[in-house]
Amino acid sequence: MAESVAILGLGTMGAGMAANLLKAGFSVSVYNRTAAKAQPLVSAGARLASTPAEAAKGAAYIISMLADDAASREVWLGKDGALAAADNGAILIESSTVSPAWIAELASVATQHGTELLDAPVTGTRTHAESGQLLFLVGGSDRALAAATPVLKAMSKEIVHLGPVGSGAKMKLINNFLCGVQIASLAEGLTWIERSGLEPEKALSILKAGAPGSPLLGAISARMASHNYTVNFVLRLMAKDLLYAQTEAARCDVDLKTAVVARSLFESAIVKGFGEEDMAAVIEPLRNK
Ligand code: NAP
Repeated sequence: MAESVAILGLGTMGAGMAANLLKAGFSVSVYNRTAAKAQPLVSAGARLASTPAEAAKGAAYIISMLADDAASREVWLGKDGALAAADNGAILIESSTVSPAWIAELASVATQHGTELLDAPVTGTRTHAESGQLLFLVGGSDRALAAATPVLKAMSKEIVHLGPVGSGAKMKLINNFLCGVQIASLAEGLTWIERSGLEPEKALSILKAGAPGSPLLGAISARMASHNYTVNFVLRLMAKDLLYAQTEAARCDVDLKTAVVARSLFESAIVKGFGEEDMAAVIEPLRNK
């Protein structure tokens, strides 16, 4: 019989991840707060659960892919939450970008319940979730990761084990700190280019091919230049990631001054109504000041 996997959260990332689990032949139950988003997956063979508990019951693996700490807490531990319904021995996989402090708390409750938690946030965006090309950054025991590997493989091109539970969450925040700062500086740089009299296409091609060039700069500058804010990574989530990064770095006595400034750009874009657009829209308040 196919192994059963529950997936909680069918947003930009969770929907693609669930589709790949179905394609790989797992028996998949799905929960999303807004149930209508589950329809394409139900048509593809997933079982729709009306609560996290209903999705989790009987599943060998329970994956969550939710917005933030508050959403994760609600879905795992809230009313009809997944954890209380999880079978003894189930492996819980938190793939959302959440704080290491919350991972530590969730791991402790999971152990008390006879289950084990892996933190397994991802790099990659909507297209990688859809094509099964994510990179999982995993924290947790060798045993739990070995058991969960076939499930993670169905959604990824690579799985990296970083250490004990919480290690994946830490690595992910460091990754997104660097991304957030680069996107904020690119927003300022491109606004400057546009007002400088330089030809933007020519200027960007020099930056992309030169020392500042990165996959992120390439992808985000294209979206900024074309004003195409179709969501790959919704802007409000980058403000959240930078806040979690600041808090976590402070626990290591590191003051992320550049994260503070970058976050202020994302926060002002949220205030100006760009919170639900792609994160590349962080440039718009600078262009239209
Ligand atoms: P998203 O499209 O905004 O989806 C968020 C999900 O969380 C939705 O299923 C949403 O349900 C649910 N949710 C939010 N608040 C909730 C609450 N209080 N109770 C229950 N459910 C709640 O986000 P995403 O892009 O899929 O990202 C998911 C996670 O992966 C985030 O932590 C993000 O930082 C991280 N991530 C994203 C990307 C990316 O490129 N998009 C890449 C790597 C990592 P509704 O549908 O009902 O709103």
